[in-house]
Amino acid sequence: MIIVDKEFGEVIVRKNPLARGVRFSVSTSGRLQMSVPKYTSEFLAKRFLNSNRKNIREKLPIKDPKNQRARDYQKKVLMKKAKEYLPYRLEYLANLHGYKYNKCRLTHANTRWGSCSSNKTISLNIGLMKIPEVLRDYVILHELAHLNHMDHSRAFWSEVGSHDKNYKIHEKKLKYFSPGI
Ligand SMILES: [Zn+2]
Repeated sequence: MIIVDKEFGEVIVRKNPLARGVRFSVSTSGRLQMSVPKYTSEFLAKRFLNSNRKNIREKLPIKDPKNQRARDYQKKVLMKKAKEYLPYRLEYLANLHGYKYNKCRLTHANTRWGSCSSNKTISLNIGLMKIPEVLRDYVILHELAHLNHMDHSRAFWSEVGSHDKNYKIHEKKLKYFSPGI
């Protein structure tokens, strides 16, 4: 269910059979999201929202409600670009350096550029399509190196360095960008 609120814009209401109370969070689209018990009516959900307004305002980084739809569109465009590029770039760089991974997953989390799981799935953020190619490659190489080192040890960095000798600069430059949309 979606509630349209004057202050927060579209609020996503998720009914959770296991929830006892109400929990507020931010969705990946930057919208306010609330998890409520299964039989919560719209009326009740709005009441919960009203009584928590101040807390939400102070604690949750809700993105500008006026631009919610524009961001949805931007995300769609970015996802399309990412699908046509990132899996192939990952494959190319993996082959070039002799890495074997299981699967490539595209994500749109607000905080991480990429990750590598113990089952060798590499996740890449679609926000990578917004940053310079050299930084994009650095993120991919970084995640590939995690296939051999699941930490940020010396051995890990030396492996990253063997593929990208400017990795320190790239790691720093990456901080000027944010993966979120
Ligand atoms: Zn890492």
